[in-house]
Amino acid sequence: MNDLKKLGEFGFIGNIQKQLKARSPHVLTGIGDDCAVLSPSGKKQLIVTTDALIEGVHFDLAWTSPSALGEKAIAVNVSDISAMGGEPTAALISLGIPAKLPLKFLQQFYKGIDSACKQYNIELCGGDTVASKKDLFINIVLLGQTNASRTFYRTGAQTGDLIYVTGTLGDSALGLKLLKSRRKKWNAKESDLKFLIKKHLQPTARLKESRVLALSALKITAMIDVSDGLVQDLHHICQSSKVGAVLNLQSLPRSKAFQRVSSFNKLNANELAFHGGEDYELVFTLPPQDAKKMEKLFQKSQISLIGEILPTPDSIFIKEADGKLKPVKKLQGYQHF
Ligand SMILES: [Mg+2]
Repeated sequence: MNDLKKLGEFGFIGNIQKQLKARSPHVLTGIGDDCAVLSPSGKKQLIVTTDALIEGVHFDLAWTSPSALGEKAIAVNVSDISAMGGEPTAALISLGIPAKLPLKFLQQFYKGIDSACKQYNIELCGGDTVASKKDLFINIVLLGQTNASRTFYRTGAQTGDLIYVTGTLGDSALGLKLLKSRRKKWNAKESDLKFLIKKHLQPTARLKESRVLALSALKITAMIDVSDGLVQDLHHICQSSKVGAVLNLQSLPRSKAFQRVSSFNKLNANELAFHGGEDYELVFTLPPQDAKKMEKLFQKSQISLIGEILPTPDSIFIKEADGKLKPVKKLQGYQHF
């Protein structure tokens, strides 16, 4: 009999409950009743998102620590709330737990969940724990809210708008590549490998940047988070807004570690930066007259101007170093099926 069996579902939930803190004034009753009770606040809009993570598909227990996995499970959902200009409030978590997992693993996993909830000011207010025959299954539902006039959609990008992205691109995809071929001798500094792997295993959602945008008067016309790859996610904006886009190859933001590891090992850096998934950066568009104001707001964080919205629906072009435009044939990034 494993530890979890001894403890039972309710014992386990009781333990978790002790570990977690009330954080949100919107959660009137959290874990411990049939439903969580939340109170909506004023004129705000309620937004909700969910993400499932399956062992062997989205994560590998050989690579990730249980606490990093918990942190990531929360962060990827916060990224979606951030992409709408929202602030997260409460989370529900459902787990399918295989018998092979020791109780210690689950305690560490919840430590990660709790630390991410603290970081993003979220209250865990319920969920479900069930047995799974073989693999670990994690599903999180995250609630959030926006000011009604500052909810950002994929639909509003207009011809001539500038395209910006937070942070750097491709680090996570390269980190995953490193994890998948750990035995290979990489021509790289240990600190670079660590940085890239961390970007994959413990991504940071751009909630701070999103709050700055949402609380500003800037005319954000569209926003999305980069989860499946820059090109694919920008393509979602283009499809929803019925426009096209041009990306400037020279201005794609890349970390120093990414540049060094990809060039020393002759990797296709453009492919990783354009199509690599799980960057969890924000891509947004705004009219050129707002560009100066926006850049002033973000003096300290990295925001890069990477392109412009074109009138040609459903097409993305890359502007190469010589100024020539090349159409992107592969508009898809990560394929789930
Ligand atoms: Mg998203």
